[in-house]
Amino acid sequence: MHTMKALWHEAAGRSNASIKMVPYPTCGDDEVIIKIMACGICKWAEISHDTVGGGGTLAKYPVITGHEFAGYVEEVGKLVTDLKAGDRVTADNAIPCGNCWYCKNGKPLLCENFGSYGHNKNGGFAQYMSIVARNVVKLPEDLTFDQASLAEPVACAVEAFKRADIQPGENVLISGMGPHGLILAQLCSHSNALHSVAIGLVESRLKTLESYGVETLLSDRNDTSTHETALTKMFPNGVDCIIDTSGAWPMVQSLMKFLKKGGRFVQYGSYHSQIKMESPAQFLNDLHFKNQTYVGVSCQVNNFPLAVEYMATGKCNVSTLVTHTFDLDNYFEALDLNKTDKSALKVVIHPTGDPNK
Ligand SMILES: [Zn+2]
Ligand SMILES: [Zn+2]
Repeated sequence: MHTMKALWHEAAGRSNASIKMVPYPTCGDDEVIIKIMACGICKWAEISHDTVGGGGTLAKYPVITGHEFAGYVEEVGKLVTDLKAGDRVTADNAIPCGNCWYCKNGKPLLCENFGSYGHNKNGGFAQYMSIVARNVVKLPEDLTFDQASLAEPVACAVEAFKRADIQPGENVLISGMGPHGLILAQLCSHSNALHSVAIGLVESRLKTLESYGVETLLSDRNDTSTHETALTKMFPNGVDCIIDTSGAWPMVQSLMKFLKKGGRFVQYGSYHSQIKMESPAQFLNDLHFKNQTYVGVSCQVNNFPLAVEYMATGKCNVSTLVTHTFDLDNYFEALDLNKTDKSALKVVIHPTGDPNK
């Protein structure tokens, strides 16, 4: 039997997961097989698979996880005409069903039966994976596989960026400087905004953004007055849009004081279920009385081509986002490091050896 190495989740939780030899995937007529060169750890999703399971509500075990992948086309199915073995590619992990009310009404993002490679179909923490060819996006030469493995987070950020709908002359705040915040801050700096300001706690990350021409503001976890004083000076009339990637409720409460009447609040980071919200009614009433709009964004579909363009043009520079790389054999060590090491932004797995050699 033709086999390959993979991170196999028999069920949710680490005790049900192992790196082992499994059958090499079969290539359907409309599919391709990708030899995976890089697959990123999506911290929230992979911790979910490693503990309670689900990856949201998407997971169906047994499964090979990993939904942020890039590699070489290894094989193409009979009906695939626009791809060939050796092409460098990434691919959209999203699988809308095509049949539900939302899909049939042009809203695949809201699909009732939303699926995803790496959650309910085998994903990229493996040496090879099969995927429908229509999801595959070719990579420009100068994008490395490590960088290309960020196409999924960039595609999700593009969704938030689109839905923020930034108009000419608007002022925008982006809070939280994990990978998603660092990506969104760059997208917004190439928008209609007059000022888009990235707010974060880690100075070195803000310095990197500044080197890309992004405006930044350092905040202090224990003293919100630091950034509030600065924001009052910068934006005496407030800002038009806030995009929060932090999922930090105290930060959001602090920033909401600066949202103009009629402004938009985009929630892109999820809040911890244990978070104590004194009164959601108060938050909603504030939106109501100030005629503000709440926009919830949690995933993407069909944004991969644009994400790759943003990365390829350097308008979304992801070269410094990959802070650690590991072999597939060391997957669990990589995941633990991602959980505990504060310097870790994106941790990327190389299932078929180092792609940079
Ligand atoms: Zn992800
Ligand atoms: Zn559907």
